Amino acid sequence: MLDLTNQVALVTGGANGIGKGISESLAEAGAKVIIGDIDEEQGQKTAEALNGKFYKMDVTDKQAVQDIVDQIVQEFDKIDILASNTGVYPQIEIEDLTEEDWDYIQNINLKGMFFVTQAVLKEMKKQQYGRVIITSSVTGPITGYPGWAHYGATKAGQLGYMRSAALEYAKYGITVNAVQPGNVLTAGLQAQGEAYLDGTRKIIPTHELGEPADIGYAVSFFAAKEAKFITGQSLVVDGGQLLPEEPDAVKD
Ligand code: NAD
Repeated sequence: MLDLTNQVALVTGGANGIGKGISESLAEAGAKVIIGDIDEEQGQKTAEALNGKFYKMDVTDKQAVQDIVDQIVQEFDKIDILASNTGVYPQIEIEDLTEEDWDYIQNINLKGMFFVTQAVLKEMKKQQYGRVIITSSVTGPITGYPGWAHYGATKAGQLGYMRSAALEYAKYGITVNAVQPGNVLTAGLQAQGEAYLDGTRKIIPTHELGEPADIGYAVSFFAAKEAKFITGQSLVVDGGQLLPEEPDAVKD
């Protein structure tokens, strides 16, 4: 299991954080990892360390996404695995939320995911093989948090998209699944501040935040050839944070 030798994997948002963890995990299992990200400096660094390749890719630019997918296929012949992971999560409460704020997050998290998956699924259909794994979240599909209504809408939207995509592509040897991280320590999460991080540690039964590798291994599982009978599913990876019926159920 989890032998991804000779598999070509594209990871969007793979320069940092969870995407970096996904890239490392896929590379560890033998995949050739291609990172698409707007962060050129970190993206080059991460890709180099994994003997992979970096493409500067803004997922909100439909034409650029298509061009890069074409270049990848030209150079590597195929894309077996897509981890559509790019996402942003600025915290803004509804009464302060502008139309620009709304569009910004929708364009990256939801529309960007659509552009990337559409371009890659077209190639996977030709290949009659593919594994697509979307990084959603617990926030939106399961939980809520003040300031993250617009974010939660994108993350729930991703799961809605994923289920229909799974049906459309099932007959071509392609699976489409999602992971739903809980709180994973990345620069993005760190920016929420120590009070948020401490509060979160208290309610996670292990009292530890997740690491990017925790999400990476879940993605690698869905990415395996052997996971061929699993599609349209999402896996919560949260250290048990959502389990307690009431706060006392979490032991100190
Ligand atoms: P992060 O900010 O650490 O990394 C996000 C990456 O996306 C960065 O490398 C950034 O350069 C890239 N990016 C941003 N805009 C882009 C664009 N337009 N085009 C291409 N790349 C772009 O964030 P993270 O915490 O690693 O989050 C990654 C994913 O995981 C997101 O989809 C997020 O919603 C999801 N998630 C994170 C957590 C968490 O606790 N960290 C929890 C649940 C879900």
